[in-house]
Amino acid sequence: MALTGIEIFKLLPKTNCGECGVPTCLAFAMNLAAGKAELDKCPYVSEEAREKLAAASAPPIRPVKYGSGDTASTVGGETVLFRHEKTFFNPCGLAGTLLDTDADLVAKAKVWAGMQWERVGLNLRPGLVFLKCASNDAAKFEAAAKALCESTDLSLVLACEDPAIMAPVAKALADKKPILYAATNQNADKMCAIAGETGCPLAVKAVDIDEAKDLTTELTEAGLKDLLIDTGARDISGLLQDQIAVRRAALLKLDRTLGFPTIVFPGEMTDDPAMQVAIAASMVAKYGGIIVLGELTAESVFPLLLERLNIYTDPQRPMTVTQGIFEINGPGPDSPVLVTTNFSLTYFIVSGEIESSRVPSWLLIKDTEGLSVLTAWAAGKFSGDDVGMFVKKCGIEEKINHKSLIIPGYAAAIVGDMEEELPGWNIKVGPREAAHLAKFLKEWKPE
Ligand code: SF4
Repeated sequence: MALTGIEIFKLLPKTNCGECGVPTCLAFAMNLAAGKAELDKCPYVSEEAREKLAAASAPPIRPVKYGSGDTASTVGGETVLFRHEKTFFNPCGLAGTLLDTDADLVAKAKVWAGMQWERVGLNLRPGLVFLKCASNDAAKFEAAAKALCESTDLSLVLACEDPAIMAPVAKALADKKPILYAATNQNADKMCAIAGETGCPLAVKAVDIDEAKDLTTELTEAGLKDLLIDTGARDISGLLQDQIAVRRAALLKLDRTLGFPTIVFPGEMTDDPAMQVAIAASMVAKYGGIIVLGELTAESVFPLLLERLNIYTDPQRPMTVTQGIFEINGPGPDSPVLVTTNFSLTYFIVSGEIESSRVPSWLLIKDTEGLSVLTAWAAGKFSGDDVGMFVKKCGIEEKINHKSLIIPGYAAAIVGDMEEELPGWNIKVGPREAAHLAKFLKEWKPE
């Protein structure tokens, strides 16, 4: 049972030193109780109090780790209902479904593992296979699971409600940390033993939220911590209502029995691939943990990955790249020099256009705290003086034998100030749209 703010306050030092970031111990206690602060922020909590407070300071939704190696991931651990309140931390996992009887199971998984896209410096990909035991044969299920692990780096959800079949497979693949699906009213004790022995996360499959609460209570009392919840809903409105109810109960009422990430099944709700994507898109936003589709295709997965990227990007921190000189297409002393801002999207669009132009170029990235060109200019973070100073100090002059600089079309107004700051330089205004850069660069000559 979670502690109240007052109960937590009684365990704090009560010195009101403010080192935790809020002025009083009472305010800190209230934040802890609401899941908005971490206990480690107070350096003066005694060990005894720390133990008592551990439960209260744990995230209201448990972060659950699955998978291994470079593709190990975490789901859950969220602390807010809406991303604009803070941020969502751990992106949901996207899975495709395979049967252990599928003849082309490995070939399909390899195609899915190859679905990877680079976007703003991040690698976007679906990360899981939901492997269903359709053979009802432990040896076949294990062989299929092992074949997937050996041929791809995708994480697994092992789906089988028969503990006798699940046990040997989970033990054999314990180091891969698959998610085990599922503990039900009929098999909870045996699945609990398998999860306890292997250390794998266990999903509970219920018929409704009340049954899910009973199952998580039973399993946590038996010592399991890493659980996921399937509330059993297989219709759109029921699923959405359940997801919201579970998230609200965990965050607003600190109901620990529902404080786990969820697993949802658009792939079981319709055979229409487009409708599966539509349902999955709702689940990315609200609040699917592991989202299981049927088949994975590039056209179904890519939009979901982009939506996930948007939802799980910290809205209070613009994505940035490091300030500095970037070499594109192997530039030399006669190559053009361009300057722009360190907003990730700006960088990746501009660098992508330069790269596809095949013109060797130097790209100077100026720190504007993640603002795009026009916004940075309007905010005074991309002024002529500033940019000029940066060009002088960044070291580009030692790499080139000309003094021509291309600035973004949207920052044309800074030319005068730049010419004052950089005497002897020729400041050329580039195109407003990055799409026109290739033509501009091909025609460029140093002046
Ligand atoms: Fe109180 Fe600890 Fe915060 Fe200081 S750092 S105000 S002692 S809770």
